[in-house]
Amino acid sequence: MPCRRSWHDAPMPDDVNPPANSVAQSSSVPERSSRVTLVVAPALQPLMYSRRRGSRVELPDDGVSTVGHLIGSIGIPLTEIGDIVVGGRRVEPAWRPLADSTVEVGARPRPQPTPTHPPRFVLDVHLGTLARRLRLLGVDAAWRNDATDDELVAQAADEQRVILTRDHGLLLRRAVRDGAYVRGNNPDEQLRDALDRFRPPLVPWTRCPACNALLEAVDKSEILDRIEPGTKRNYDNFALCRACTRVYWQGAHRDHLQRIVATAETSLRVAELAGRAGGAPGAT
Ligand SMILES: [Zn+2]
Repeated sequence: MPCRRSWHDAPMPDDVNPPANSVAQSSSVPERSSRVTLVVAPALQPLMYSRRRGSRVELPDDGVSTVGHLIGSIGIPLTEIGDIVVGGRRVEPAWRPLADSTVEVGARPRPQPTPTHPPRFVLDVHLGTLARRLRLLGVDAAWRNDATDDELVAQAADEQRVILTRDHGLLLRRAVRDGAYVRGNNPDEQLRDALDRFRPPLVPWTRCPACNALLEAVDKSEILDRIEPGTKRNYDNFALCRACTRVYWQGAHRDHLQRIVATAETSLRVAELAGRAGGAPGAT
């Protein structure tokens, strides 16, 4: 809990005077209403509750809330923010705004560091297609279609995974340490956003798209009884997932999957080049 501090403890700028029509109700009530102004980076504005959309948001200063709490109160999870700057100085989310502060809230810089390298992710129930595409690229992406929010948060903490979600309410939970709001309304955009934000190393065709376990190259003789005669005749290279026993080979969907892999590799190269040139395309 934040430390409660009385109104009179907060230093006041010299040029701020109470409005002429303010009336003190009692000795414990402020003589004027103080505000805290948040100046929100464009990349963060889509996350704000709609009634508060805009680059500048004025909030009443309750004398208690930290700047992190105020940012959360307009719908922006701390997982999404970068620097918080007041008067040219960086402050922490636990900082208590002074009266009439103007607080600049920046977007999280990219690429974003992760608790492990290579990164591990856990995705919410709505991001199954994104999970399969990340696995196709060899990125560790845990996903279940029946995981509750509590289970996602617990798994992320236990296994040092970054939560990927389109539910910023989930990211606003205090227990969430590493998470990211996935931008984009379709899997192509979502994959591009995740790659741009985390720049994970890609090792395509090494992970089971169905269950996330690592694949093993397997001799054809070991899976002969598992494949159709036509597949047996036409293909020689097979991979086996020992976790879910699925067998993979260069089948009918290969072109589609190859396109996903090629597009992902290109977008990652573009993101890295933009990063080297000083840009951060996803954070503008
Ligand atoms: Zn599997």
